[in-house]
Amino acid sequence: MICLEFHTTLQKAKEHHPNINDPDASTRFQEIGTAYEILSDSQTREIYDEHGLEGLAKGYGGPSGGPDAADLFAGFFAGSGFSFMFDGPRTSRPRRGEDSVIPYDVALEDLYNGKHVKMNMEKEIVCGVCRGSGARGNAKPKPCIKCDGKGWTITTTPMGHSVYGQSRAICTECQGAGEKLREKDRCKKCKGKKTVKEKKRLEIFIEKGMTDQQRIVLTGEGDQLPDAPAGDVIFVLKLQPHSSFERSGNDLLAKVKITLSEALLGFSRILLTHLDGRGIEVTTPPGKIIQPKDTIVLRGEGMPHYKNQDLKGDLYVIFDVEFPDTNWALSVDKEALERLLPPKRPDLEPRPAVVDAPEFEEADSADSAFSAFQFGADDDEEAWTDEDSDDMNHPDCQTQ
Ligand SMILES: [Zn+2]
Ligand SMILES: [Zn+2]
Repeated sequence: MICLEFHTTLQKAKEHHPNINDPDASTRFQEIGTAYEILSDSQTREIYDEHGLEGLAKGYGGPSGGPDAADLFAGFFAGSGFSFMFDGPRTSRPRRGEDSVIPYDVALEDLYNGKHVKMNMEKEIVCGVCRGSGARGNAKPKPCIKCDGKGWTITTTPMGHSVYGQSRAICTECQGAGEKLREKDRCKKCKGKKTVKEKKRLEIFIEKGMTDQQRIVLTGEGDQLPDAPAGDVIFVLKLQPHSSFERSGNDLLAKVKITLSEALLGFSRILLTHLDGRGIEVTTPPGKIIQPKDTIVLRGEGMPHYKNQDLKGDLYVIFDVEFPDTNWALSVDKEALERLLPPKRPDLEPRPAVVDAPEFEEADSADSAFSAFQFGADDDEEAWTDEDSDDMNHPDCQTQ
């Protein structure tokens, strides 16, 4: 919207109307008309919005090659006291059809394996019966009665002592077109709307390695408009959380539970099922003891790179050691176990002079103020990057 401070054009038009006895009035009236044309033409409005009056003066001589636009406006600005709010039919000529933005939920499997998706959509297409004119047969629209074919109407607001502010608004009857089809002249199919809804089958391909929030654009598949390019259909991928894997860039992270005996004695088994359904078998080296939160990396078992799917990231596996429960402890020969396990710690040497033995109760470590120290991201990150000191860029892979 442009807000111009000048004598209202209408006021000018009245002053310089040819009926008034003034030798120059006729010319002035025409000039004013030209100014109005400049303001109401969307092309010149754009020039004005972007480059101001100078732009109009340089780049555009006026719709009818009439007087210099800058001079004309300068003349208007010379006056004072009236506020003119310009509210012309700026939006009456959209440049292209509406884009349809559609969020689309994807599983991590879809981004790993790629996926063809077919779906039915509804969109506006140019009416085939009237070819977008909205008219029946050769019927032509008639000038709008309400706005007298101008596309806008003027409302007058009192602003003080015999001073009136005037604002221009898009005509509500013809929506700024300045002309209107009579009811009986409208196309039967689209009812004068120029477009009709059509069901369309769309196909998108989710490529391997695509990411959360990535957009898949189907150019020109959106709503059509007569005399303007169609909009696009844009799918925005929304990655759903996965039960086994987390993704960071092209790397994957999986947490795997192993038993205490696996941690102490090692194992050789299928640790997890990958996103393409393969079992991933891991055999620990002889004598290797796995600590809680130890991490291994399986090179090339991460996500395929987008547009270069022969390359793959890495898969990090964090071990969570499950300790046996009290039932197990009650069922085993404790003395035999003690002989097998590393010895317990002796008392502190030298023994402190005073020793208390306060009572204790079990605490929920998650509620403790120190939980951040015990289970915080720092520990995780250490384990995460330990195995892979050359490639430290996985901060997003932390969990918990
Ligand atoms: Zn039609
Ligand atoms: Zn109208």
